Amino acid sequence: MIKKYFYSIFTFFLSIIFFSSNDINTISTLSFPIRLDYYISSNYGYRTVGTYHFHNGIDIPKPPGTPVYALANGVINYIGFSSSYGNYIIITYSNGYKSLYGHMSGIYPFSVGDYVTTNDIVAYIGPTFLSSGIRNGFTTGPHLHFTIYRNNKLINPIAIFK
Ligand SMILES: [Zn+2]
Repeated sequence: MIKKYFYSIFTFFLSIIFFSSNDINTISTLSFPIRLDYYISSNYGYRTVGTYHFHNGIDIPKPPGTPVYALANGVINYIGFSSSYGNYIIITYSNGYKSLYGHMSGIYPFSVGDYVTTNDIVAYIGPTFLSSGIRNGFTTGPHLHFTIYRNNKLINPIAIFK
């Protein structure tokens, strides 16, 4: 009984070592979506902008037309529009990662289902108001809204790109 108990503790710690080293390997293969100098205007977490709510990503201000890159080799999963993200695109990668880029221009070099690589431009930052006069999502100025999911759970992008 005691032997079995120690064995399960042992395997528990082994799995922690295995999974954390696995994480490090995975994370080192992801590249940042903006390849120029940048700053973060709004962090991941609860904030008060209009209302008190959860911000599920980070915001990076850049002029319209700034290219946005894939994080790694992946597939274009979704291209659409919503009142919060404006024009947005979702890319899926191996190891359960997924990235969402919001407030984009609406001009995309690739289509849904296309394979992309780390150095592919997948979108461009869009204007605050689209040519139709519609606001490009919940935004007051041109920026990339950048969300990362892992196994469909939100994670803080800053935890990966330190
Ligand atoms: Zn945002």
